[in-house]
Amino acid sequence: MTDLLTLAEYTSIAEKLTPPSNSFINGGFRPSSKGAKIAVTNPATGVHITDIAACTAEDVDFAVSKARDAFESGVWSKKHPSERKRILLKLCDLIEENATELAVMESIDSGKPIADCVTIDIPEVIHTLSWHAELMDKIYDQTAPVGNDAMAMIVREPVGVVGAVLPWNFPILMLAWKMAPSLAAGCSVVLKPAAQTSLTALRVAELAYQAGIPAGVFNVITGSGREVGEAIGRHMDVDMVTFTGSTATGRRFLGYSAESNIKEVVLELGGKNPCIVLDDAEDIDTVAEQVVAAAFWNMGENCSAGSRLIVQKGIKSELLSHIIKHAKEWKTGNPLDPSNQLGCLVDTNHFSKVAEYLEIAKEDKHKLILGGETLDGRYVMPTIYDGIKNTDRLAVEEIFGPVLSVITVDSYEEAIAVANDTEYGLAASVFSANSKKSLRAARELRAGTVTVNCFGEGDISTPFGGYKQSGFGGRDNSIHAHDQFTQLKTIWVDMSE
Ligand code: NAP
Ligand code: MG
Repeated sequence: MTDLLTLAEYTSIAEKLTPPSNSFINGGFRPSSKGAKIAVTNPATGVHITDIAACTAEDVDFAVSKARDAFESGVWSKKHPSERKRILLKLCDLIEENATELAVMESIDSGKPIADCVTIDIPEVIHTLSWHAELMDKIYDQTAPVGNDAMAMIVREPVGVVGAVLPWNFPILMLAWKMAPSLAAGCSVVLKPAAQTSLTALRVAELAYQAGIPAGVFNVITGSGREVGEAIGRHMDVDMVTFTGSTATGRRFLGYSAESNIKEVVLELGGKNPCIVLDDAEDIDTVAEQVVAAAFWNMGENCSAGSRLIVQKGIKSELLSHIIKHAKEWKTGNPLDPSNQLGCLVDTNHFSKVAEYLEIAKEDKHKLILGGETLDGRYVMPTIYDGIKNTDRLAVEEIFGPVLSVITVDSYEEAIAVANDTEYGLAASVFSANSKKSLRAARELRAGTVTVNCFGEGDISTPFGGYKQSGFGGRDNSIHAHDQFTQLKTIWVDMSE
């Protein structure tokens, strides 16, 4: 377990940071071709941190051409897998050496609590990169059962130039989820972080170059989605796009692809994930702890947040009293204070969006059983509403804030029906001591990840992605992530006499 420093120490590190500003393209920092900039502020204080480059479609063209040159040259794509592994492991060492600086940078850029950045996000980044690096010289291709007169090989080749477009909720971790398997596979990458949270991506790009990833292979280009994101999505020389973010923007990427070069598209999108607690669940205090973590971890800014608690009526009042007790233990405040579990929301726009749901709840006279308050125009306190119907806006829409809706059901069958009655299908949890029933639920829930008697997202060895409107085209993490960044080639060799 990584030791935490004090608030004073983290504040002092934050004050001494020299955050990057320009995009990292072709092995060096580069301003936007138009010289335009986007101001970056600390969402917890409103203090200006730096200005990042507001790049343009022209800059995207430049980055893609450099990525293409690097790919075609073979300087990375044709390196021996063990050599790519060695360099990616060197990058892990550099991230480790700079872990505290990266964690602080992430926290002041996004409002995420420093304790999470230090103990979860940065270690998981290293784990993700090393896992995919280690995989590369251990997976084999195939031969097909074509008889004695031919030999048919099925080989995997890197897909080429990858466009990656990232969200702001887990900035450096999502970077790793996209970067690790694509680079391990031999692709070149042009990656756009969210405009709100671009700093750690720029720093990692610099470290990647330092580790020995050749110029042009890993490029981070900053700017808005409308300009840079769309230019990547529509680019004729980008072979595939991997995207994490909202369903609305994901849908656009399918359109961009259809209207350009039919590039492959993989989408990890939103969720309105159910946590089902059945009457026969055991150890209610632990269940409550898990429900609270599911709803409030990362301020609820989590696509797999358990934002709908679907509880069977026999256990409800006992469960809610434990949930309220645990939720009250989650402290909200200064993201750099390691004793806080919740920081602030990512920016004032998003704060306003989440705060609006508290107003909707008031207008709709929902029963508030915890929270409901905001602080300083930046923080939303952990909030729980009881008596929600699955058709209420609070149960239908992805709020992306620390707001939990409690829906009461009579039976197992009703719980499953309510859980599945959503356009999303990213994650779900079920709590029951009856293993047959909980496994049946795991099969009946239409979601990419189902956790039983716990909340979680699996780990690097398990695929992550969504059913229905929560995802499209592939999975992040695990060996299956390689399907995104490789394509299959058949090589047929005639052996007939
Ligand atoms: P978003 O629009 O999906 O943003 C994700 C990424 O797509 C950002 O890099 C964004 O750029 C880019 N983008 C935005 N518009 C684009 C366009 N027209 N073409 C190409 N790229 C574009 O998400 P958001 O606006 O930040 O957040 C809105 C809501 O999305 C949240 O409230 C939440 O409900 C959901 N969300 C889900 C996830 C998730 O992990 N599934 C993550 C974040 C947000 P810029 O933002 O830099 O302009
Ligand atoms: Mg910011």
